[in-house]
Amino acid sequence: MQKGIGVAGIAGRMGQLVAEEAKAAGLPVAGGIDRAGTQPPAGVTLRADIADLAATSDVVVEFTHASTVQAHARAIAAAGCAWVLGTTGLSPADEAAVAEAARHVAVVHAPNFSPGVNLVIALAEKMAAALPAESYDAEIVEMHHRQKVDAPSGTAVGMGRAVAKGRGVNLADVMESGRDGHTGARKTGAIGFAALRGGQVVGEHTLLFAAGTEHIALTHRAFDRRAFATGAIRAAQWVVGREPGLYSMMDVLGMA
Ligand code: NAD
Repeated sequence: MQKGIGVAGIAGRMGQLVAEEAKAAGLPVAGGIDRAGTQPPAGVTLRADIADLAATSDVVVEFTHASTVQAHARAIAAAGCAWVLGTTGLSPADEAAVAEAARHVAVVHAPNFSPGVNLVIALAEKMAAALPAESYDAEIVEMHHRQKVDAPSGTAVGMGRAVAKGRGVNLADVMESGRDGHTGARKTGAIGFAALRGGQVVGEHTLLFAAGTEHIALTHRAFDRRAFATGAIRAAQWVVGREPGLYSMMDVLGMA
């Protein structure tokens, strides 16, 4: 790595930790961007905009807001810089913009950079393939801090996608999120989601397979969001110099 790591969202909870973890790993922080009026950590150069940041970095590590994704995807592809994208709550159009950028540059896009969650996602797919959808109802419950703006969490959706893949279906066709009111009986094969918000919970996810005679649950609890920052730095080191393409944290961890 020559120019270093650029951090989009440098003043945010994740951005600050990414800058700290980059320094701890001995990697230069090439600079950062954030919204006007925010305070970047001391010692980090503020860049004018995403184009400036991408031009002065080997890789941009981004934890911002879904509304930035389409413009940032275009700027990063134009600059030819690698991209580690952790922002969640992306729309299908945002996802398409990320895929388009990945035709020009190497992109790691992951809803969760913790190795433990990625292991849970791999296990979720295997369990879903082994447990018949007619008998085992899949439900995903997640809880996060009160500041989180999107629901269900990107990690919960990632777990749901893994269950759907294991069952050979599309998540969009079977997703039941945020049930309320007279919803009728549960549909066979549905994948249910419930989101709790409160306090300062860093991230808790449980995938439950509920049958008539037994329950099987996989739970992951993150106590410190530094787990995501160290994973993102690992992804940044892995992605620099790769061929253009859309990679996942499973690729980074050698679990794909
Ligand atoms: P945060 O609100 O603390 O930080 C977001 C930062 O982005 C803020 O400083 C904000 O000012 C900045 N920002 C917003 N719009 C911007 C723009 N247009 N240009 C530049 N900066 C902009 O939030 P956070 O807890 O750090 O989370 C950020 C995102 O990362 C969320 O989508 C969250 O769900 C996601 N996240 C992902 C993972 C993962 O492992 N993939 C882990 C934690 C959080």
